[in-house]
Amino acid sequence: MKVLVINCGSSSLKYQLIDSDTEDVLAKGLVERIGIEGSVLTHRPAGKDKVVIETPMEDHNIAVKLVIDALVDKNHGVISDLSEIDAVGHRVVHGGEKFDKAVLIDKGVKKDIEELSALAPLHNPANLIGINACEKNMPGVPQAAVFDTAFHQTMPKRAYMYGLPYEYYEKYKVRRYGFHGTSHDYVSARAAELIGKDRKELRIVVCHLGNGASISAVKNGKCVDTSMGLTPLEGLIMGTRSGDLDPAILAYIGEKEGLSAAEVNTVLNKKSGILGLSGGVSSDFRDIAAAIDAGNEKAKTALETYNYRVAKYIASYAVAMQGIDVIAFTAGVGENNYDVRSAVCDHLAFMGVKVDKEKFKTHGEEVIASTKDSSITVMVVPTNEELAIARQTIALL
Ligand code: ADP
Repeated sequence: MKVLVINCGSSSLKYQLIDSDTEDVLAKGLVERIGIEGSVLTHRPAGKDKVVIETPMEDHNIAVKLVIDALVDKNHGVISDLSEIDAVGHRVVHGGEKFDKAVLIDKGVKKDIEELSALAPLHNPANLIGINACEKNMPGVPQAAVFDTAFHQTMPKRAYMYGLPYEYYEKYKVRRYGFHGTSHDYVSARAAELIGKDRKELRIVVCHLGNGASISAVKNGKCVDTSMGLTPLEGLIMGTRSGDLDPAILAYIGEKEGLSAAEVNTVLNKKSGILGLSGGVSSDFRDIAAAIDAGNEKAKTALETYNYRVAKYIASYAVAMQGIDVIAFTAGVGENNYDVRSAVCDHLAFMGVKVDKEKFKTHGEEVIASTKDSSITVMVVPTNEELAIARQTIALL
């Protein structure tokens, strides 16, 4: 069967067409600047050259239509007819408390996703636009919603409640939800597979370190804690997001700088993290490494603060799971950045974590890097959220 996986943003749309039998990616691509001047589709069919199509795209309907045209095109297409697409799997960011697993989309599900927009105002409306555009262009094809929050719905209450007046939870559903759930699920399952053990018998910490970064404690196959919260701002230091801080800082900075609550929120989401801490060098770890090599002290501080925070979270999940069997690194930084991984493991040496530094120096490969006498198995497991979405979509049919 063939599944089209869609990850729709407010002005962008990422897609992959996956053959679920072989799990091969037949084609993937990205539409950028939808609804703005300079719309462009970059289509990458497997085994063929990429195609860049620059044409005005007023809305997501037109973008989806162009993606379908590219998939069935005589020259750069990978299928001969639209009817070969058996299902569409959509990444949906917020499923709230309503969704603890992927679901087939119907009117009711769409209404729920819309209502949950209050908790994810930047993401859920865009996801819904993508769903509607696919429904319009592919009538009758089953569509599934795979939620970023769903895997974390197994957290115990003590892990998801904040120390706030209880009425805010009752009235506004203010609680920890967690994100990147599809990745945490996929990586923890794959980590267990790689060591030939049942995930149900393991205590796994997954460190998803990308532009956005989150960490989770997966005990016996279920998430028991995670670092992101009501929104994807909490927890680790990220590319441009602050992660954890003293909540009183918001009012303090707002007053000092004359910023509204919304403006402070923008600073915390867009101008903080590695970018902010490094004094504006970059949110990209490759630029940070280059700046450190050139003697930039702020860049060094940024990286050290980042690594320390990751290590502290990992150690705290020993409490969440009463021990740790596996630590798995994933996503852009986790898969590619040896310096971050090794510094994090150095912080954990007191727990008996030992890695073979040569084995650990990989880029984007699956590797078990801990030594035989390490107390915890340390590995790198590249994530594959699109494949996970395709698998969950097929499972629903
Ligand atoms: P997103 O959250 O956007 O999906 P990714 O998981 O792709 O992010 O991670 C992007 C980050 O990964 C980049 O900002 C960069 O810092 C880091 N990264 C990617 N490739 C490398 C590399 N070869 N070496 C070091 N860091 C890398």
